[in-house]
Amino acid sequence: MKKYYLAVTYDVCEHNDLFIDMNEYPIDLPTEMEAQVKDFAKQDVAPLVRVYESETSDFKNITLHREFTFKEYECCCESDSM
Ligand SMILES: [Zn+2]
Repeated sequence: MKKYYLAVTYDVCEHNDLFIDMNEYPIDLPTEMEAQVKDFAKQDVAPLVRVYESETSDFKNITLHREFTFKEYECCCESDSM
């Protein structure tokens, strides 16, 4: 069965209890999922990208497929003295 994938980028800051979904991107090439997710993360400077899957193209019923984290885009709060 064909599956549809949707990537969602998140802006996350644990220090400020920030967890905001930024943008949604359909993944048109599931075989290139990792490369596409990397591009989305770079574009939005997102430390977290979740990929949801759906069996229908309307994404009415989605389940979490994979989660990608990008250390290089994490916020810099850690370096502050708090
Ligand atoms: Zn932070």
